[in-house]
Amino acid sequence: MPYCDHNATAPLRPLSRDAMAHALGLTGNPSSVHAHGRAARAVVEQARDRVAKLAHAKPDQVIFTSGATEANGLALWGAVEGAIDRSVTEKSARITRLFVSAIEHSSVLKTAEAVAERVAGVRLELLPVTANGVLDLEALRAALREGKGRALVAVMAANNETGVIQPVAEISRLCREAGALLLVDAVTAAGKIDLDAGLCDYMALSAHKLGGPQGAGALVVGEDAPLAPQMTGGGQQKGLRAGTENLSGIAGFGAAVESVLADAGERGRVASVRDRFERTLKARLADAVIFGESAPRLGNTSNVALPGLASQNIVIALDLDGVMVSSGSSCSSGKIAPSHVLSAMGVVDDLAGASIRVSFGWNSTDLDGDAVVASLEKLAARVRARAAA
Ligand code: PMP
Repeated sequence: MPYCDHNATAPLRPLSRDAMAHALGLTGNPSSVHAHGRAARAVVEQARDRVAKLAHAKPDQVIFTSGATEANGLALWGAVEGAIDRSVTEKSARITRLFVSAIEHSSVLKTAEAVAERVAGVRLELLPVTANGVLDLEALRAALREGKGRALVAVMAANNETGVIQPVAEISRLCREAGALLLVDAVTAAGKIDLDAGLCDYMALSAHKLGGPQGAGALVVGEDAPLAPQMTGGGQQKGLRAGTENLSGIAGFGAAVESVLADAGERGRVASVRDRFERTLKARLADAVIFGESAPRLGNTSNVALPGLASQNIVIALDLDGVMVSSGSSCSSGKIAPSHVLSAMGVVDDLAGASIRVSFGWNSTDLDGDAVVASLEKLAARVRARAAA
């Protein structure tokens, strides 16, 4: 069945499945000093090396977590609380301002809101994006100029709904000049563009978006970045994230990363599937709107609106045809809530409410994209016929 929802979860890669099966057969606790413990430890450390390579970081910068929600939470709470700890010795180390792009994933947006609500003296400001979905650098520059105390900026490497790539190098330069810390949610970008953890202080990753298992992820932490642990206990992972490591999850994560690193042709293959999908879509349904089309975008993602149709109805109609895509907007208590990402790009509710996200990945073929177009065409014809009747 055509599965075109890789940005929600990518199918498990065969190497990842094998590594997980192997790890499930191991007995040791990675913290145990005996032979079985050491074998388990070796699995964790091999995965750490691989994740570090993907992020262009050192292995000891990688903290395994239960996913990117935890990684983003660890970064935001950990930075703010870690900076409070340091402020005893370092003047002006306290974080007083959170600048978060308006298109962040809810694991960043909601957590930043909670931090600002619960930690005295911390203010949250959302940073706007352009109509193309790219962070407004002027707004960031202006925000960094005001106020006292240290700022923490959160901008994703690429957006999960539109695939629009953010100018992380430029954002990093502005943050460094202002002495601000930078969190980059690299969940959607990982494996699709090169990452450089050296540009930021915190980088969040999730295994299941790149063909690893759900429930595994990592935070890559800069060597000088403040970080107060959010899970305390057994002192695992240098005391920064206590708890016995999720051995099979971490093994699967490492193997998925290894598959990504080993296959240099994958990005091109995926981009060719996506590009063909968009070409045929525009040829068959002339009024289709592709969001962020003229911005630099990941090669796997397409966010399209089909004026006159409703997101939820499109997703259901395609599902009935065995084609799986995601709705561009979410439905809460029976009402369609337009995506906050499209709203931030200035897309009017009617058009945002007609959008779907089609995202491809490592095992996608042209047949998948063709199936989406065929099903959309059928739906559009049905809706036209009903309107004419
Ligand atoms: N950030 C982004 C951009 C995401 O798409 C997701 C998953 N939807 C997350 C963070 C959270 O990741 P996880 O599912 O591993 O908690």
